[in-house]
Amino acid sequence: MPVSGLPPYDPNNVFARILRGELPCRKVLETDHALAFHDIHPQAPVHILIIPKGPYVSAADFHASASAEEIAGFWRAVAEVGRAYEAAGYRLLSNMGRDAGQEVPHFHVHLFAGRPLGPMLARGAG
Ligand code: AMP
Repeated sequence: MPVSGLPPYDPNNVFARILRGELPCRKVLETDHALAFHDIHPQAPVHILIIPKGPYVSAADFHASASAEEIAGFWRAVAEVGRAYEAAGYRLLSNMGRDAGQEVPHFHVHLFAGRPLGPMLARGAG
């Protein structure tokens, strides 16, 4: 069930269509619980998206509604994708809702790597 305040899951969102094989992706890793693929508009030399296979709109929805096995499986997949970039470092980021600018309403984590990534946010707290 979606967390209160969030829209219900849209089964036609772009990541749901990738999971069903209706749209292509450049796959990095697939496990029982997660799919990782390259972002279509990369914002760093390495920009990978990791998504759970279940229908969750956001981080809040995923962590409230997914099984412990799905949650563990998802985060293990995130770590597995990150392993290749561990030596130099990488950044994980997940947008949730309007102020974060979430575009795709299927929970996902961005993994950025391949260069010094600069400050965490473009502007300060103001
Ligand atoms: P967010 O703003 O956190 O919801 O990020 C959504 C991300 O999905 C953006 O970085 C988009 O470039 C990316 N994206 C949208 N459509 C596709 C697609 N078909 N394949 C790969 N990445 C996509």
